[in-house]
Amino acid sequence: MTVRTKIIAGNWKMNNGIAETGEFFTKLETWFGADEIGKKAAAAVRSGKIEIVVAPVLTSIATAVASAKKGCKDLVGISAQNAYFEKKGAFTGEVSLGMLEEAGCKYVILGHSERRHVFGESDELLQKKLAAALVSKLLPIFCVGELLSERESGKTNDVLKKQLNRAWLDTDGDLLAEKLAIAYEPVWAIGTGKTASSDDAQNACAFIRELIAETFGINAAEKIRILYGGSVKAENSAGILEQNDIDGLLIGGASVEAESFAKIITAAL
Ligand code: PEP
Repeated sequence: MTVRTKIIAGNWKMNNGIAETGEFFTKLETWFGADEIGKKAAAAVRSGKIEIVVAPVLTSIATAVASAKKGCKDLVGISAQNAYFEKKGAFTGEVSLGMLEEAGCKYVILGHSERRHVFGESDELLQKKLAAALVSKLLPIFCVGELLSERESGKTNDVLKKQLNRAWLDTDGDLLAEKLAIAYEPVWAIGTGKTASSDDAQNACAFIRELIAETFGINAAEKIRILYGGSVKAENSAGILEQNDIDGLLIGGASVEAESFAKIITAAL
């Protein structure tokens, strides 16, 4: 059986400016260095048991990269929350994957439900973004998930299939297996305080893994990490993480403060 390194990823959304980012990493540095559980977390990262990721706003990336390297001794990888697929040009307000890499990012979140539903990003646009990310040096964390109305009408699996089949259209399975992580984030559970039950989260993640196996084969299905996201807190993270097909967490609100993020990391140890 393939052992997949768990990813504990914090998506700060539009929170934590430069000063707050510095404070967050100072607290995490103290936790890794002086707290017994924090030391265990640092050892778990070094041994490849877990990966810790933080996705700050664009203006905080430089501070996060510098703090993660110096104080946190590369125990935390920095992610962007979004990127455009073109390399450069007349795309006001956008940032390219290459620019994020140059800024020190290692990951990029794509297709987050707020990008899809607040900013109108389509499956077609996300296909281009994922294709560009897969050939960049960044590791994409690609988000999928259904609306409440879709879940209530029994369409969850159809929605996941549609979003993923479009996203990885014409994609090479080996590349996908090597680089992709998928985050299952039911839209109705994001920022609402409603978490999917561990069973529902497991069922959706197992469905995604079967879809990968059917499309790209068992090797890809065994390698690709599938995370759950949606109102994850310290109290519910252990139950979600013990599910067979769940390889980590994408955390919004509870990742903004170092203390609650550290408690969620603790649940993964
Ligand atoms: C998210 O932003 O990806 C998320 C899951 O948010 P929250 O944990 O706040 O629901």
